Amino acid sequence: MVEKFFWADEIAEQIIKKRGNKKQYVCASGTGLSGRIHIGNFRDVITTDLVVRALKKKGKKVRFIYSWDDFDRFRKVPVNVDEKYEKYIGMSVSDFPSPFNNKKSYARFFEEEFENSLKKVGVKPKFIQQSVMNKKCKYANLIKKGIENRKEIMNILNKYRKEPLKKDWYPVMVFCEKCKKDSTKVLEAKDYVVWYECCCGHKGRVDFSKKGIVKAPWRVDWPMRWKYEDVVFEPGGNDLSVYGGSFMTGKEIAKEIFKIEPPDYVFYDWIKIKGGKEFSGSAGNVLTIDEVLEIYEPEILRYLFVGTKPRTGFQISFDNDVIKIYEDYDDLEERYYENRVNAREKRIYEMCQLKLAKKRPEKESFRHLITLVQVGRVEAKDKVRAGNVKNWLKKYAPEEMKFEIQTKVLVELNEKEKQAMVKLRNVLKNIKKPTEQELFDDFYEICKDVGVTNTEFFRTAYRVILDKQKGPRLATLILAVGKNKIIKLLEQI
Ligand SMILES: [Zn+2]
Repeated sequence: MVEKFFWADEIAEQIIKKRGNKKQYVCASGTGLSGRIHIGNFRDVITTDLVVRALKKKGKKVRFIYSWDDFDRFRKVPVNVDEKYEKYIGMSVSDFPSPFNNKKSYARFFEEEFENSLKKVGVKPKFIQQSVMNKKCKYANLIKKGIENRKEIMNILNKYRKEPLKKDWYPVMVFCEKCKKDSTKVLEAKDYVVWYECCCGHKGRVDFSKKGIVKAPWRVDWPMRWKYEDVVFEPGGNDLSVYGGSFMTGKEIAKEIFKIEPPDYVFYDWIKIKGGKEFSGSAGNVLTIDEVLEIYEPEILRYLFVGTKPRTGFQISFDNDVIKIYEDYDDLEERYYENRVNAREKRIYEMCQLKLAKKRPEKESFRHLITLVQVGRVEAKDKVRAGNVKNWLKKYAPEEMKFEIQTKVLVELNEKEKQAMVKLRNVLKNIKKPTEQELFDDFYEICKDVGVTNTEFFRTAYRVILDKQKGPRLATLILAVGKNKIIKLLEQI
């Protein structure tokens, strides 16, 4: 079935229908900081970005927030980080220095990297560091509310747990004042005060309206922040979306404890990588937005996500599919400016743009640039895309896409092959400003005259010009190199 509308527009419509007229619609996204933030995390924020744009298109005022969950404990040392970082395990990821830049915290270094990348693809949320919010005691009232409703929260969580929470469980966690770690046990919590003891031997009493070392555990923290920010939309990955997962319990806690309507939620599937390295946040082996931008223009990176509904998994390709994806996008762009798009395609194109151009931008195709780049004939207007092509050739392109123009004839040819190449040289000499089609027709004439098959003819030409069995379209190649260079080469036969 062909979809009529763009999915983010449909979500925006649902939100408005459900919430009625609001002064402001808050849409959220966010992530934790186990390590470097990768392209997989981008799906979360782009999903929100598209809903934000859709709401704005409907004339609504929107606040787009991005939560850095950087008041979480450091769980394990990623493979690319020194083992001595084990000493920080249990501390908040915002409380010790980055192994890559000791002027910044472990979390902040990764945060800034991602924030800078997001700007390049036109995603501009307001970033909120949960370490800052918690340290400033912003959630004290809501944490207190959690404590007051401890039993009710336990009932909700226990419905989905195999083993119920211990009777002395409290919906708070403490980072020890002495060792800064969360290896603490809460002994009692009342009003704004928490009594705790730590593995390091420290025993303490803290007023969390004055000292920001106390936080709510994730399953309470999440709905608490929906309340604090008045969130109406937030997406989530598979891990949060399962039966009994943190969205499900969060929804109940939001309604029962914080007395709010939980946000509209879409679940998104993970993305995979094809033709590039696999990624995983905690393994340290990740693919970042910047690395994807080496190959894809920002608009086309957006296009990969925009065109696929969040529920559907897809893969980002780095093999020959890249050429096809560029072609699909260019085709959509052409049809957009010629008014040959349907309503859904129109919105998809608009959603890809960082800034919508009044008329169709002039662009050379990725495929043609593969040839132009390798013969060194890139025009100024194509510099950016040519940069993507160069990166692709260097990092991912299969061998058959790479070539080098020969200056000497290195191959042995038989009589017929020689004849064919001499005829090609004469054709090129006699034709003034050939078009691709004219050359193409001439190639077939030559084959007939000499009595070689088309396959033989093309293979011979590639062997002579590139020292390879295959190459880009021959006419395109000759025109890109310039016929005089080819004539010079063929004169050696
Ligand atoms: Zn301690």
